[in-house]
Amino acid sequence: MAKRQIAMVLDLNKCIGCQTCTIACKKLWNTDTGTGYAYWNNVETLPGAGYPKEWSGSGGRTSDGEVKRGQIPTLDGEYGRAWSFNHDKVFFRSGDGGEKKPWLRPDRKAQWGANWDEDLGAGEYPQENHYFYLPRLCNHCTHPACLDACPRAAIEKREEDGIVLVDQDRCNGYRFCVEACPYKKVYFDPQRQVTTKCIFCLPRVEEGVAPACARQCPGRLRFVGYLDDEEAPIWKLVHKYGVALPLHPEFGLEPNVYYVPPMSPEKLDSEGRPTGESRIPMDYLVSLFGSRVKDAVKILEDEREKRKSGNPSELMDLLIAYDWNESFALESNRKEVI
Ligand code: SF4
Ligand code: SF4
Ligand code: SF4
Repeated sequence: MAKRQIAMVLDLNKCIGCQTCTIACKKLWNTDTGTGYAYWNNVETLPGAGYPKEWSGSGGRTSDGEVKRGQIPTLDGEYGRAWSFNHDKVFFRSGDGGEKKPWLRPDRKAQWGANWDEDLGAGEYPQENHYFYLPRLCNHCTHPACLDACPRAAIEKREEDGIVLVDQDRCNGYRFCVEACPYKKVYFDPQRQVTTKCIFCLPRVEEGVAPACARQCPGRLRFVGYLDDEEAPIWKLVHKYGVALPLHPEFGLEPNVYYVPPMSPEKLDSEGRPTGESRIPMDYLVSLFGSRVKDAVKILEDEREKRKSGNPSELMDLLIAYDWNESFALESNRKEVI
């Protein structure tokens, strides 16, 4: 068990699906050619199949706490191999000698890839169509299945902050961790024969600097801090107000990445009038965040009404994030600006 636990809260009401976080992480940490397909941070459109495709729940723990073996996603299936586009033809060679300008096309027939089902969502247009974005990274779980599945003891949960790391000198590339993680947030590098995953930007955090995915987010929806710091937004959102919830608590790993659930616009009737019914079905949110999401949405709605009618609401002020630096409570550098 870690003595302290670092955590992240993401307010899904503010994510615009821009993928800045995805690219910030990828460019900073994960440029090896063997893991070109792998995104330690990715952003999915929900409802949707996500990345890797239909990732949810393969592995995890039994009700007795034993690690369950799951599937290893494949490059030709659930991850999808990257493709490129015919930019050269379209932008530089088209039109020569009266030739018809070609459309921009992938260079091969692809079946799946990261962000494949972006903005598709669900529900009949225009009365009940809906979608929202779900950014995902390793949850640095309190009971990490990846760690217990590794026969080489190559995965560590740090005592001082609860960050889960793979020791690549010890890793033999068996991929038991990939099987066991029900969030599919460990990735195999076939060239180096080791697995890789989010390091919670450890070198930055040790300097009191927020992780790149949080720091670069233009939506300013990510909060970072320690779960026991009662002064910090993380503690207030998770414990005081109970509006930040872990993804799939039923997997039994106690994730330390939390989400403020999305508030839904109303469905319309055939005349285009609001019906008072949520577009995002509550059952769907329960399937993601557990039954506590009902209370969380009610608290958010009540506090929003309070604030709209001119009354103070600490919760709404926190979520608006007036002072962005206060979103990152890394103690050694509360005034962090980079
Ligand atoms: Fe391990 Fe991260 Fe998966 Fe949890 S989410 S099991 S810590 S890889
Ligand atoms: Fe990547 Fe750092 Fe965010 Fe982890 S915390 S997903 S390593 S940017
Ligand atoms: Fe959402 Fe922020 Fe990531 Fe953009 S950078 S996709 S707003 S979490």
